[in-house]
This record gives sequence, structure tokens and C-alpha cells, in this order.
Amino acid sequence: MTEKYDVIVIGGGPGGYVAAIRAAQLGLSTACIDMNTGKDGKAALGGTCLNVGCIPSKALLDSSKHFHHVQHDYAAHGINVADASIDISTMIARKDGVVSKLTGGVAQLFKANKIKQFHGRGRLLANRQVEFTAHASDEKISLEAKNIILAAGSVPISIPNVEYDKKYIIDNEGALDLTEVPPRLGVIGAGVIGLELGSVWQRLGSEVTLLEALPTFLPTADQDVSKQAERLFKKQGLDIRLGTLVKSASVVDDEVRVTLEDKNGESQINFDRLLVAVGRKPYTQGLLADDSGVELNERGQINVNDQSQTSVPGVWAVGDCVRGPMLAHKASEEGIAVAELIAGKAAHIHFDTVPWVIYTDPEIAWVGKTEQQLKEEGVSYRSGSFPFAATGRGLAMGDAAGMVKMLADEDTDEILGVHIIGPSASELIAECVVTMEFHGASEDLARIVHAHPTLSEAVHEAALHVDGRAIHRGN
Ligand code: FAD
Ligand code: AMP
Repeated sequence: MTEKYDVIVIGGGPGGYVAAIRAAQLGLSTACIDMNTGKDGKAALGGTCLNVGCIPSKALLDSSKHFHHVQHDYAAHGINVADASIDISTMIARKDGVVSKLTGGVAQLFKANKIKQFHGRGRLLANRQVEFTAHASDEKISLEAKNIILAAGSVPISIPNVEYDKKYIIDNEGALDLTEVPPRLGVIGAGVIGLELGSVWQRLGSEVTLLEALPTFLPTADQDVSKQAERLFKKQGLDIRLGTLVKSASVVDDEVRVTLEDKNGESQINFDRLLVAVGRKPYTQGLLADDSGVELNERGQINVNDQSQTSVPGVWAVGDCVRGPMLAHKASEEGIAVAELIAGKAAHIHFDTVPWVIYTDPEIAWVGKTEQQLKEEGVSYRSGSFPFAATGRGLAMGDAAGMVKMLADEDTDEILGVHIIGPSASELIAECVVTMEFHGASEDLARIVHAHPTLSEAVHEAALHVDGRAIHRGN
């Protein structure tokens, strides 16, 4: 017998679970198939983000930040803490507690919204039929729906001659679960994940070396931000080696031996652990039957149009398995939009105003175009900036590195991009996203009252500076 639903979602990450909740809110009978299993061996919704991505990485970033502050920053406040130490197993258990609270919370939301949860693998067949294979028993169930949302997410990329062994050569999952601080941690890839997880273990005492093939640091960020970030991270002790291509790695005598190539030719370097953080790829293995009709593009992503429709009517796809940035909030907004379209409502996502955040210290956040993009596109713009070192709040906090930079159209003054490196950049960017979403101008932000003393005054002053009238800096 075939179970029938209005909507079946395959994948329970931020794309899939949010789509399922919104579909159920709109009165559609909804099922969600997810195969993820938590550390306790039970079903754990929330996908990469809640289980081995956004949330556990932020939990460890916070723990390690506290440890770093105790050791390096408290003395300036007159607080003396002798012999601070860290118990890694307590730190990891706290992180696991945060994860299970949130994954359990999603399960509760499913119950409250009457969403049928299936723990196991989903496979799309022809004619909007889905085959479900239970995780525990290999039992198969046939399902059918008017609409199917594919939200299968992504998995880490591997590179040739570097095989994960899950002990010495690890991915994000391994780096979030180390049982002790590795004296020497190598990281391949100085992208978002490499920088965040490298920072965690560097603050806890590892000597961290980032091996990055590209010659420029954070090339997708605004170059003024990238330059400041590179200088600050190096000062913190991260050994960032650009133009360094990893060719192979192998485990020899309790060490990882990495062969790399840089401007001086080929050489070797040894680490206690090696984190491979060279990016992620869409996960579509086993998801689509040969006759499902769903097309992939040359990058292995599920092909979708602007409204997230695949090549098969009634089959939609969202999140990391389709085009666009691999970010949890992008996945969730796509999920909501698809549920609303299925329910016959209007829905649209503005990819131009999706914010990007890197949760290093200082944090980096941006929205819209970088200065290098505007130059390439031949757009005329004005630029304003303001350093946190000139804000009362930043100085009072003892956390004043970085700046806000704003780019606005020369003729219309519409904000085209905002780039922040500094304390709470991840929160400060929200105001800029809202302004850009409403096609606001730098003048709009310049005329809005910002509370004093706050870090948001740096956004205000950067907006004033676009017009050469910042108060607390020269223009
Ligand atoms: P996923 O979260 O990957 O979820 C997909 C789910 O589908 C998984 O549970 C998977 O098991 C399941 N699945 C796949 N195929 C099947 C199948 N055939 N049957 C059943 N189930 C299936 N993004 C941010 O925005 N902010 C951050 O701070 C951030 N930090 C990150 C840190 C790390 C270390 C990593 C690795 C990622 C981070 N990301 C962050 C990215 C973010 O995790 C992803 O963009 C987000 O999880 C994508 O959501 P999704 O729903 O598309 O896929
Ligand atoms: P991201 O895509 O932000 O996760 O970043 C991954 C980074 O890994 C990119 O900057 C790549 O240039 C880098 N990378 C990929 N392969 C290699 C390699 N073999 N050696 C060094 N760096 C690499």
C-alpha cells in the first residue's frame, strides 16, 4: 500500500525541516524523510547545520573564546585568573548538549505541526513516488505526494591522495569531536570552515597551519576586509600559507605527513592531525532513481529555476544541493518560499541580499557587492568606512579591532554593499541587510538614530562617511 501526502520532503536540514514546518502550517499533509543519526544512535533532525555544522562549531568557538579571554584579555580588566585550564571532554559534552537540545526541539516542532517523520533513506522514483528505506530495519515503504521537496544537503569534498581515516585525517565532523588538543593541527583550505575550526583549536593551544592553494586570502570577501583579517589572524598565531597546494597526505608513525607545493617547490610537513576543509559538494548519492527525470548540472547540483522547480513538475529542490551559497539561512528561506508556492502563495528570494558571515574573532560579515566586483562591473560608487577603534563601546569592551565599510551608488546613493570585520559583525550586518532589501540609501542609515554607546554607531558613521560627514573621524 502507498502512503499519500500533499508534500514529502527528503532531507531534514535547515532547508528541509523548515520547508516541512511551513507546509504543515499552510494546512498541507506533510512527511519528512531524514536519515541522519545523532551521537546517541537515534534520529537527529537538523541536518549538517544542527548536528555537525553551524551550531556545534559556534558552541566550540564560544568555549574556546572564553578560554582565550581568560588567558589573554582578563588581566587588562584587572581580573587575575591563575592557572586556567580546559577540560576538553566537558567542552565537547556541552556542545553535544546544545546540539541535542536543538535537534530535539525540531522533533517537537514536527509533532506539534503533525508532520510525519521517517528515519531512513528516501529515493525519488518516477511520477512523484518515493521509496523509503527504514534506518533500523531495511524495511521499505512506498510513499506518494503531489509535491516533493528535495533537500539532501551536502558532504565534504575530498581531494586526490588525501584519504579521510577519521582519526588522523579528519573532516568537520572529526574536528568538532577531538578528544584532546592536537599539538600541531594542519588545515587544508583557508575558507570559512578551515578558519573557524582552525581558530577553535588554535585558541585551545594547537599550533595551527592553514595550507591554501590560492594566492589571495578570502578572495570572495572585500579585499580591505581580507587584508585586515589576514593581518589579525596571523597576529593571533594562525600560520596562513597562501599559494600552497597540498598534493598528498599519509599517516606515518602516529603523524600525518603532508606533501605540498609552493613557490619554493615541493616539500613535506608533519602534523598530529590534519583537517581537510576544501569545500563541500551536493549530496545526491542514492537520491534519484534512473527514471526520476530530475536533472543535475555539471557541478552535480540539482538543476532548478528561480522558483526552485526541478526539471520534473511537482518536484522542487532547495539548500546546499542546488545552486547558490551553501548557507543555512539561504536553505531555510528557499524551503519557506517553496512551501508557500506549493500552497498557491506568491514567494520570492532576493539572493543579492543574502548575508555572509565568518565566525572568527573578529567576526567577518558582508552583504551585497565587494569593491572589486563594482570595479569589474564598471559601477560608479562612493565608499565610507569607520573603525571600531573610534567607537566608545568597542573601546569600553576592549574589543575594537576592525571596521565597517559601506559602498553606495554614486548617482542614486542606494547601498550596494556593506563589509564588516569586527565585534558582533554577524549581528550588525542585519541592519544593512534590511536597508538593502528596501533599496535604502546611505543617507537613510545616516539619518537614523543609533543608540549610544553601541557598536552599531560604526555602521552609522560609515554611512555618514560615504557623504564625507562622519563626526568621529576625518573625512
Ligand atoms: P543539510 O543540512 O546538509 O541537511 C540535509 C539532510 O538530508 C541531512 O540530514 C542528510 O542526512 C539528509 N539526507 C540526504 N540525502 C538523504 C536521503 N536520500 N534520504 C534521507 N535523508 C537524506 N551555514 C551558515 O549559514 N552559518 C554557519 O555558521 C555555518 N557553519 C557551518 C559550519 C560547518 C563546520 C559546516 C560543515 C557547515 C556550516 N554551514 C553554515 C553550512 C550549513 O550547514 C549548510 O548550508 C546547511 O546545513 C544546508 O542545509 P540543507 O538543508 O540544504 O542540507
Ligand atoms: P571553502 O570553499 O570556503 O570551504 O574553502 C576551501 C578552500 O580550500 C578554497 O579556498 C580552496 O582554494 C582550498 N583548497 C582546495 N584544494 C586545495 C589543496 N589541494 N591544497 C590547498 N588548498 C586547497
